[in-house]
This record gives sequence, C-alpha cells and structure tokens, in this order.
Amino acid sequence: MRLSRYFLPILKETPKEAEIVSHRLMLRAGMIRQQSAGIYAWLPLGHRVLGKVQKIVEEEQNRSGAVQLLMPTIQSADLWRESGRYEAYGKEMLRIVDRHDREMLYGPTNEEMITDIFRSYVRSYKDLPLNLYHVQWKFRDEVRPRFGVMRGREFLMKDAYSFDLDQERAREAYNRMFVAYLRTFARMGLKAIPMKADTGPIGGDLSHEFIILASTGESEVFLDKSILDLPIPGEDTDFNGDLSEIVDAWTTPYAATDEMHDEAAFEALPEETKVSARGIEVGHIFYFGTKYSDAMNAKVTTAEGVDIPVHMGSYGIGVSRLLGGIIEASHDDDGIIWPTEVAPFHVGLINMKPGDECDPVCDSLYEQLENAGVEVLYDDRKTSAGQKFAGMDLIGLPWQLIVGPRGLKSGEVEIKNRKTGERESMSPEAAVAKLVAALKG
Ligand code: ATP
Ligand code: MG
Repeated sequence: MRLSRYFLPILKETPKEAEIVSHRLMLRAGMIRQQSAGIYAWLPLGHRVLGKVQKIVEEEQNRSGAVQLLMPTIQSADLWRESGRYEAYGKEMLRIVDRHDREMLYGPTNEEMITDIFRSYVRSYKDLPLNLYHVQWKFRDEVRPRFGVMRGREFLMKDAYSFDLDQERAREAYNRMFVAYLRTFARMGLKAIPMKADTGPIGGDLSHEFIILASTGESEVFLDKSILDLPIPGEDTDFNGDLSEIVDAWTTPYAATDEMHDEAAFEALPEETKVSARGIEVGHIFYFGTKYSDAMNAKVTTAEGVDIPVHMGSYGIGVSRLLGGIIEASHDDDGIIWPTEVAPFHVGLINMKPGDECDPVCDSLYEQLENAGVEVLYDDRKTSAGQKFAGMDLIGLPWQLIVGPRGLKSGEVEIKNRKTGERESMSPEAAVAKLVAALKG
C-alpha cells in the first residue's frame, strides 16, 4: 500500500479526552474515530488490525471444532421474554420499536437466539456435541463507556455456544474452548490468564475469565505467578482427545478476580509467588447447564428415547477490546509496537527522497516484498524525514526499511526493528532476504 494513496489520518496533538495509553495511541495513529459516546468508526488501519484479530479468533475456534454462523444484530423482544431476560436486562439493553410497533432490541448477547435456532432443528443426541459461534457487533448501553474500544457501547464480540447431552460432556466442550482460548491469545502475543470468575446474571456454576495484566485494567486480580510460565498448547493439540490435563495444569495455580478471591488461600502462598495486579478481561467462558434450554424448551432425545433439556455453555471474546488490550501490553513512548501476527502491515518502507534516485530502489523493494507475501506500507510522500520516522514509530509496524540517498551511495539500505530499536545497514537484496525470513520463515 502506498501511503500517498492510503487514508491514515495521524493526529499530531494528543487527544485530551483519552485517559489511557491505548486509547490515545489508537486515536493518534488514525485507527478509530469516535462517532458517539462508546461508538467508533474503524478507520483503515484499525480495520486491518481488527480483521487480523478476528481471523486468529476464527481459526482457533474452527480448530477446536466450533462451527461458524452469523446471527443478526437486531433481535425480537419476544425471544427474550421466553428466558425472562427482557425485563431482567435493564437499561443496558438498547430497545427499539419498528414501524409496526413491534418491540425489538440490539443484541447484547445471543443465548436466546442460538437456543431458538438449536431447538428448531436439533432433536437427537446423535447430533451432539455441537458448538456454534459467530463474530458479530453487540450493543450494551454501558453507564460509563470509556477507554476507547476497551469499554464501548457498540463492540465486536465472538460468542460461541455449546450443546451437550449431560454435564460431563459439557465439561469436555468447556475444556475445548478453554484450550482454544489459551492458543488464541498467545498467537496475538498476549499472556491471558484464566481466572476463576463469577458467573454474574447469566447464571451457572463453572466460569473463567481470561485476563491480561495491565495497570489500566478494570479488574482487580490475584495470582500465583508460576501460572505465567505454563506452556501454551501447540498446533497439534488433539481437540477430539482428553484436554483435562491441560486444563488442570492451568487451573491449579491460584488465579482469581476480586469477586472470587479467597484471601486465606492467597495469603498461604509463598511471598515471592504472590501477585496482586490489575487486568483486562478479554474473554469469558461459562457453563450454565439447562438454564436456557429449560426456559425455552430446547430438548434432545437420548439413546433411551427420553427427552431431556440440552446442557449449554457460552464463550465470549472481546474482539474489538483486544486491540486496546494488545496496545496496553505492547507500546513505548514513541507509539504502538504490534506483534507481527496482528500488525496492520509487516514493513514500513520509508523513501527519504521521493522523486529522485531512491524511487527505483523503493519500487523494486516494494514489489519483491509484496510478491513474497510481506505486507508493506510504503511511505512515498514528500514530507520531512522526521515526520516519516515519527509516523512509522507511532503506528508500530514490526519492521522499517529505510532508503536514503546517502546509504544508496554505498549500495545500502537500513532495516530497523521497531521493538528492539536495532538498526542494520545492508544491500537491498540482503534486506529483502532478511525481512522475508523474519516474517515468513
Ligand atoms: P465486563 O465485566 O468487562 O463488563 P462482561 O463480563 O459484561 O464484561 P461478557 O458478557 O463476559 O462481558 O462478554 C464477553 C466479552 O466481551 C468480555 O470478556 C469482554 O472482552 C467483551 N466485552 C464486554 N463488554 C464490553 C464492552 N462494553 N466493550 C468492549 N468489549 C466488551
Ligand atoms: Mg464477563
């Protein structure tokens, strides 16, 4: 992508309404624009990252055996009356009346709708287990939307729903999501810790929140820091097999949010392993049994010919919130530092003197990298070098490739690693080889 043809509205001033670093950086880097309180337009750079985060989430859901569909944002109030949540949900629900005076709502979550879909088609135990998920915009009229996309009113969520014959099998479904979540967040460069959590108004008795540590997080958390060193399950994990060993390993060290905190158990830990910190909830998984299937009559026939309500769980990931979380976890004074897997582009190619001898070298580098599958943002604008460097650092692409007239005299270009700040001069050919190896190797 040539920057001269792109839309990257970088802000020079630090927006004063933004209280935390990720919100400031997303606004300054031209990723989002607030349209109403807690409602954002995703500008091209932000939209690219959102897409990459969503893709990782989808790949890991699919790997675990979940099946993707897409439900609408607008739902009927009658469906929510069946579960009793239409009244219970309160002011967080955005209620809408259509031209025929029918009561509708903008979905804050989809338990009712997925239960309705399930009961319309599934009759037999033979069709289980089943896990259906979608990635869709949600609306919750939060009292205090703040911190940018971290606590929005409109936000993108992945929500999955599992259906099983009994509690034991529902537990296996829960474990599959648990392990899928470990992999999902690790692929984004995050250390997300599963913590024992309160089930809240959604009900049920088995629940974990996945939390990344950050001083700006809204949750207070307590953990045994040995959990930070546990290995992430590999790509070859068998999701048809028994995952309880992995789940046990991750649920043995102490880790709880303040709602579930057991002060005595925490205090009993050796002093050097205790961590009390703040964190950001990026995912939440629940088993809630037959709460909705009972209320909404979602039954399957067992092998013995008996009709029983199906056991369910729901599994959310804050896809849009993750962008804020990733930036909170990975930035410096100059701007964002994207982990490669979610970076909007891999390489920022800087032409120090457009319209001159740097052009053919840049054009060729651009083409070679793109052909090798490396995503390049090419700064071909006639602006000052200082502006180009500051802009590239701000938007945080993992690598910069700098082409200037002085280096070219000795046949060299420069590579900079955004994270380490290391710079290295080499021939254009060597630079391409090095970047391709680093990014695609
Ligand atoms: P919170 O406690 O932060 O309000 P929640 O427990 O109400 O979140 P869930 O119903 O568990 O949220 O939703 C699943 C996921 O959606 C959360 O783990 C979080 O990552 C994300 N999420 C929830 N509310 C918001 C919001 N207002 N803005 C952005 N993401 C959100
Ligand atoms: Mg939650």
